[in-house]
Amino acid sequence: MNCEVKAKDRIGTINPIFTCQPAGAQYASIGVKDCIGIVHGGQGCVMFVRLLISQHLKESFEIASSSVHEDGAVFGALDRVETAVDVLLSRYPHVKVVPIITTCSTEVIGDDVDGLITKLEEGLLAEKFADREVHLLPIHTPSFVGSMVSGYDVAVRDFVKKFARKGEPNGKINLITGWVNPGDVKELKHLLKEMDIEATVLFEIESFDSPLMPDGKAVSHGSTTVEDLQSTGSAIHTFALNRYEGAKAAQFLEKKLKVPSTIGPTPIGIRNTDALLRKLSAVTGKPIPESLVRERGIALDAIADVAHMFLADKKVAIYGNPDLVIGLAEFCLDLEMRPKLLLLGDDNSGYVDDPRIKALQDNVDYPMEIVTNADFWDLEDRVKNKGLELDLILGHSKGRFVSIDYNIPMVRVGFPTYDRAGIFRNPVVGYAGATWLAEQMANALFNDMEVKKNKEWLLNVW
Ligand code: SF4
Repeated sequence: MNCEVKAKDRIGTINPIFTCQPAGAQYASIGVKDCIGIVHGGQGCVMFVRLLISQHLKESFEIASSSVHEDGAVFGALDRVETAVDVLLSRYPHVKVVPIITTCSTEVIGDDVDGLITKLEEGLLAEKFADREVHLLPIHTPSFVGSMVSGYDVAVRDFVKKFARKGEPNGKINLITGWVNPGDVKELKHLLKEMDIEATVLFEIESFDSPLMPDGKAVSHGSTTVEDLQSTGSAIHTFALNRYEGAKAAQFLEKKLKVPSTIGPTPIGIRNTDALLRKLSAVTGKPIPESLVRERGIALDAIADVAHMFLADKKVAIYGNPDLVIGLAEFCLDLEMRPKLLLLGDDNSGYVDDPRIKALQDNVDYPMEIVTNADFWDLEDRVKNKGLELDLILGHSKGRFVSIDYNIPMVRVGFPTYDRAGIFRNPVVGYAGATWLAEQMANALFNDMEVKKNKEWLLNVW
């Protein structure tokens, strides 16, 4: 077999690709309107994650911490959550939703967050905030299992589980975008609008690309409301675009509230976007409009300009969130490129059964490695010591030093990307995303040709 899926063959991690589960829960929670999460753990479990998200989106927003100290780590720290909920609700009168996100320390202590929520609902909320609509929910994200990816998946499921109600069918679809950027949300909403499909877009973060208005106020907030979450049980269908970032919620809605679901495709590249539109059309009965056929044509034209001449046969390493990595690998193959190394930063045992990975194993006709539980040493070691030759790296900013140290051009994609301007604004999904990705990859290679004086004259005659 040309394409092998293997786990990292070392114990320990050198420069991780992912951070821990609570980070994913925090990213999901910022997509909910009037919501501020309390992360129950040490302050660093919020500070560094919030910084990462803030660096990535170049926006400010609130997440709270129960700020557990030594005494709490030994004797339990539920009293700090009680205080945190009280202070948060007193200080932020607009807040309606407070997820309490656990961490490694508070899961090890065994703090009974679920029990505390019942106590707070019957006590604090009923007595001090009786005139307020307030929803508390537990999200269990111990960091010693999974990764930020599974943390996002768990949080999305728990929000939906908390709020979804079965009602009269509302004729809408649920769209669970997965861990995406504001630019992706904008593009997905555009595709739905062109298809004339009404959708509840869940954990919607488009407004994190927020304007600076004349009155000086800039507000970044999630746009998915409590009502949106409640209505998910009355939808005609759920589309979870990412298998590892939203499928749990889709499965819950299907199993408990009989809302049928489709998992995937992650609409990266022309092929996957076509597949998504066909599925949307089949479920809703709405035809794919001429306007999208035209957009597809524009994307194909842009790709044709660069693919065969510049991208073909280029050797690529890709790392990051699994749906993104797999989608990018599929797109690269369509562009005649050669993804040589895919790095997935956690040990999810389901990757080997992913039909998209099986398809890569069946179809790739050159040596490709897929490494799970991978870290950046898996990339650097292969480049530095094992003769892996690369023309391009696709991944987030944490891998930039491999690119810098070994002079390999890189396109920033995924989370977090803080060392290039405006990455969050551009979609990687849909036809617009396919165009953007192909052109970014081509431009990175052009720049490299000039810097290394490697056939840069070609660009004069292109
Ligand atoms: S690994 Fe544990 S202590 Fe560290 S940030 Fe994650 S949850 Fe907090």
